[in-house]
Amino acid sequence: MSPLTLTPKRRYLVRFNPKRIPHLFTDVLVIGAGIAGIRAALEVDPRLSVVLATKGRIAESNSSYAQGGIAGVFDPLDDIANHAADTVAAGKGMCDGDVVEMVVREAPERIRELMEMGAVFDQADGEIALTQEGGHSHRRVVHALGDATGKEIMRALIDRVRHSAHSQLWDNTFTIDLLTHEGECRGALVWNPQHGKTFVWAKQTILATGGAGRLFRETTNPDIATADGQAMAFRAGVELRDMEFMQFHPTVLYIAGSSRHLISEAVRGEGGILRDSLGVRFMGDYSPKLELAPRDEVSRAITRQMEKTRHHCVYLDVTHLDKQMIADRFPHISQVCREFGLDLTRDLIPVRPGAHYMIGGVTIDHHARTTLPRLFAAGEVTSSGLHGANRLASNSLLEGLVFGLRAGKLASDAALAEPDRFSAWPLQFEPPPVVEGRDQTLNLGDLLNSLNSEMWRNVGIERNAQGLEAARQQVEFWDRYVGPREFNEPQGWELQNMLLASRMMIAAATARKETRGVHTRSDFPQSDPQQADHIRMIAK
Ligand SMILES: Cc1cc2nc3c(=O)[nH]c(=O)nc-3n(C[C@H](O)[C@H](O)[C@H](O)COP(=O)(O)OP(=O)(O)OC[C@H]3O[C@@H](n4cnc5c(N)ncnc54)[C@H](O)[C@@H]3O)c2cc1C
Repeated sequence: MSPLTLTPKRRYLVRFNPKRIPHLFTDVLVIGAGIAGIRAALEVDPRLSVVLATKGRIAESNSSYAQGGIAGVFDPLDDIANHAADTVAAGKGMCDGDVVEMVVREAPERIRELMEMGAVFDQADGEIALTQEGGHSHRRVVHALGDATGKEIMRALIDRVRHSAHSQLWDNTFTIDLLTHEGECRGALVWNPQHGKTFVWAKQTILATGGAGRLFRETTNPDIATADGQAMAFRAGVELRDMEFMQFHPTVLYIAGSSRHLISEAVRGEGGILRDSLGVRFMGDYSPKLELAPRDEVSRAITRQMEKTRHHCVYLDVTHLDKQMIADRFPHISQVCREFGLDLTRDLIPVRPGAHYMIGGVTIDHHARTTLPRLFAAGEVTSSGLHGANRLASNSLLEGLVFGLRAGKLASDAALAEPDRFSAWPLQFEPPPVVEGRDQTLNLGDLLNSLNSEMWRNVGIERNAQGLEAARQQVEFWDRYVGPREFNEPQGWELQNMLLASRMMIAAATARKETRGVHTRSDFPQSDPQQADHIRMIAK
């Protein structure tokens, strides 16, 4: 199928005069300091210079919030083939078999590497402790600090990269756009509050900006997940695909006024039960795998049961499980619940689904190469072919490690082979007639809330043609007057990125006239074998 096309409102979000902006030259630029970006930076040859730019504090990423763990075969009774089969089964006909095989085969080695870097995983009887999550046929999820795996992994990775002499870490540095010249990526335009805009010219660039959960009203993602990477890549002419596949996590703590904490799959893995507001265990009505069905099935089941019972949430029940085990395995979740007066061992926990993981994104090949020469990408910003139409739990930290390493290695090899060139490339683009963004009548917070609600209502867990068309018209309307404006700070750029990413998601969700994996169409409830293919997208 030929790719869908969309027209971004601008090629570059800001105007610039190259004679008035500082220029910096580096061998490799890594954008994003989550698991994928840091793993990439660590792979670059020490003879080369690396700039690692992240828009917030380095510890603020989806990676740091990961709870359940990272999947890899360590149990002698398990097998690489089982891990591959489970991944493919979850992916509903859309996984790239070679990528799956490559990633799951590397998993134990990548996890051991983390241990060598100082990450401490939980142990049982002197061995790595393994738990089981939805969709996995065996216990193969390695975890740390009970249920704060990401925090521990990122502590070790951040520590390692801080000690790497050839890497410069630039936090609070927002990447506005990728710089392109004659169809190749040449670095990026970045901004920070101290220095304003800077051109970072790089021999090779690696995009690792993570996900897009913040498009939705209900999400597990921290504030950084605003689809900047997907949008900047699209503006630069890079192909994206599968933008309709947003995974919703079934069990997000639902307490008015609290931020939406994820209640890890592992809670169900250890025996947690879902009950509706009448106390009925309902998963048996939806899947023979009960609470351990894949996420898309559990999310749909919860949504339907909420509709049936006309109640705003369902409840997770672990009151029948061993209290000490709950305290040991889920210290973080127990603590969060306590803050709201809930005792995990005695009370039912109110939960409902929330946007969690962006499956689609920048198309990459087996070597983490995008369709734009000199631009690599890794992690949640990409579509690598690993997850298909539905990500298997705990496969995404793994994907970040495997493709981060590849991106770092290839970018490093390519940069080593290239002589230095300390001059700027001429950038050709037609600056659009812009509207200044200091207009006080534009309330960005209000626009974001409206976008979040629209996306949740019409592009959320269940979609249909009518709702998608309403969302398209609404988002296009906002983008018509927000897109062409010129903002001078991240809040405005993020909103512009989210509007563009929402347009992409709506277009792809409209084009996929079937239900597959995480994409549910109430007007096309069946999967159609003719549509088991990627929906690609490029800028026109
Ligand atoms: C609550 C929660 C629990 C999870 N649990 C698990 C789990 O148990 N197992 C698992 O495998 N996965 C889990 N996931 C998913 C997993 O954490 C992510 O998919 C993965 O960490 C993504 O890594 P990443 O490096 O691609 O992106 P991130 O870790 O999100 O990093 C993105 C980086 O890019 C930076 N960035 C973004 N935009 C810009 C910009 N414009 N300029 C500069 N920098 C920018 C950010 O600041 C950040 O440093 C969970 C996710 C969440 C939210």
